[in-house]
Formats: sequence, C-alpha cells, structure tokens
Amino acid sequence: MLKRYLLAPGPTPVPPEVLLAMAKPVMHHRAPEFAQLFGEVRNDLKWLFQTGNDVLTLASSGTGGMEGAVANFLSPGDKALVVNGGKFGERWGKICKTFGVQVVELKVEWGYAVDPQAVAEALKKDPSIKAVYVQASETSTGVAHHTKRLAEVIKPYEGTILVVDAITALGVFDLKTDAWGLDVVVAGSQKAMMLPPGLAFVSVSDKAWQLADKAKNGAFYFNLKKERESQSNNQTAYTPAVSMILGLQEVLRMLKAEGLDAVFARHARLAHAMREGVKAAGLSLFPKESPSDALTAISAPGSVDGQAIYKNLRVQYGITAAGGQDHLKGKIFRVSHMGYMDTFDVILTLAAIEMVLKGLGHPVKLGSGVAKAQELLMA
Ligand SMILES: *Cc1c(COP(=O)(O)O)cnc(C)c1O
Repeated sequence: MLKRYLLAPGPTPVPPEVLLAMAKPVMHHRAPEFAQLFGEVRNDLKWLFQTGNDVLTLASSGTGGMEGAVANFLSPGDKALVVNGGKFGERWGKICKTFGVQVVELKVEWGYAVDPQAVAEALKKDPSIKAVYVQASETSTGVAHHTKRLAEVIKPYEGTILVVDAITALGVFDLKTDAWGLDVVVAGSQKAMMLPPGLAFVSVSDKAWQLADKAKNGAFYFNLKKERESQSNNQTAYTPAVSMILGLQEVLRMLKAEGLDAVFARHARLAHAMREGVKAAGLSLFPKESPSDALTAISAPGSVDGQAIYKNLRVQYGITAAGGQDHLKGKIFRVSHMGYMDTFDVILTLAAIEMVLKGLGHPVKLGSGVAKAQELLMA
C-alpha cells in the first residue's frame, strides 16, 4: 500500500467532517430546507470575504468565476488592465480577449510582485481603463501581489474597478474586501476552502454593479445579475451543487470556530516554517519577493530536474505536489500548505523533499530542513 498525500496547490485535502456532510442525501434545491441552508451559507460567506456585498455562489471551477468577472462588467471594445505575472494572470488576459475586451497588459517577471506604481502610471496614462485584473496570490509562481496597495491606487478612479482572483488567497491571508475597496473578489472551492473542486464564489461591490448596469453582458450561465436576483432569495438561478453547499456549510462552521485571525496566523506560521525549512535544506525559494502563504515554489537545485522531484514524490512516496508551468517546467516544483493543513503536513513535506533529493543524487543532509521546521513549529 502507498498512502496518498495531496499536497498540490489545488485540489487540497478535504476534512472528514466535510466529506461526511457531503454524503447526506441530496435535498431538492427548491425545498425550504435548501433555502435555509443557503441563507446560512450566504451569511457566513460574507464573513469569510469580509464584506457586506453580495457573495454569489456558482457551480463551476474557479475559472467560471473569473469568466463571470469579465463578462458581466465589460463590453466588447472596453479596456482592461491585466497584471500578468504568471499562468493565472495570463488567463485573465485570455478571458478578456474572448469577450472582445481590449487588453492593456502589464507584464511582470515571474517570481516578482507587480509594482503598484506601474499600475498607477498605466491608469494615469489611460483613464478609460474600466477594470484592473490581478491575482492576490499567483499560484504558478508562489508570489502574492500587493492587493491592498493596488486598491489604494485604483480607488480614486470612479469608473475603474479592481477585480481580484483570490482563489489561493481567500482563507489564507487577510483580504479586507470592503475596508480596502476590492470591487470583485473571486474564490474557488478546492484551494483554501477545503472542499472538492466544483464551486466558484464572486463578491461584487456597488461600484462594480454600477458598471454591470452599463455593460452589454455576454454571459448566460455566468450572469451575475440574474444570480443576484435569485440568490438574494436564497435560491440559485439554475440547479446548484447541493451536496457541495452542504460541505461548504461545514467548512464555514469550522473556519468560524477557529476564527479568521487564527486561520491567517496558522497559514503564516506553516508558510514561514516551510520556507525556512526549505532554506535550511540548502534549497532556494523561487519567489524573489512577496512569497504567498498559500504555497511554496522551490527552485530545483543544480542539475536536478524539477519534474523528476515532483514525479518521485508521487511514485516513491505517494505525495502529489506540483511541477512548474511553461518556461518554469523542470525548473521549480511547488508544495501547498493551504486549507486543511497543520504542523505535520509541513514536516512530512520537508522530509519527503529531502528523501527525494538524496535519492536523485543531490547532496542534502537528511533532517536539515525538518529540524528547522520542528524548531519553528514547536508548541
Ligand atoms: C486554481 C486557480 C484558479 C482556477 O482554476 P480552476 O481550475 O478553474 O479552479 C484560478 N486562479 C488561481 C490563482 C488559481 O490558483
């Protein structure tokens, strides 16, 4: 037997309580029990998103939420500024182009966070930009962009909204939707939200709804205005993923019992121990600045192929991590510490990395990274 460990930056492990909640009999989505369940979940989602705005739940992967965050607010010919510092930034650009939106691309070298000043200059140069698209945490590089500072830059522009892909940020680190002025925040179920893949969430500010009122709107299924109409009555426009919403209820209860600050502190503590452990094992972090607390991207050392590390983790030790994408393929590998994660997930990850590297002929001292993490994580 090879025991399996899911340590990829999505999907992530699901707590047993949540799996059990999802195993309950399927209820009908127009029955009063569903409206009661959905009402509770809608309230708790506002708590998690730190907002008084609507948080809409969609039956799709995270990308469906991203598509909705383009199609509903912009019309063909409108201009959007897209921060592209990795695979998911690139995806914002592709979605915009699909809907005929003119893309002003702000390229950021992989491994770096966007300079808010560069966004300020782009907006000054072209105030007709209606939306700025960014990732709070760019999962392909393990970098967190400076969401709060970006919001400060964008706030004075009355006709411009900030759209944040928070799919590996919500439930990991602090994102104050209302206090910072994040107009649209997109999340997904299978990252820090401790659920299987299948739900997307989108919060929408008044400023963004005003833009939506003027937009032509190319969406049918991902029509957020239609969803708002239904969801404000604790219904959904189409059949919701009922079983997943039962799981979500359990997740939100767990997160509320832990408390938002404690959830963020746990992620910060695990991420810090992982990064220090990686360094103590003689490896280097891929991000050059602003590492995300959701995952750690690690540079493959010397002559070792990053894909071989990722593959051997899986084949030899049953651990699913992730490799690098595009030009980073073979150069980095990525491990997650978001969601249903605690002390020993970090320790076992570091132990396995050391064992795989040694097996591949890299001179690593077994236990060096583990010892560092143990020191940092001791109660
Ligand atoms: C996982 C992820 C997505 C969404 O991917 P789906 O496969 O559609 O769920 C989008 N953005 C980021 C930053 C992600 O990590």
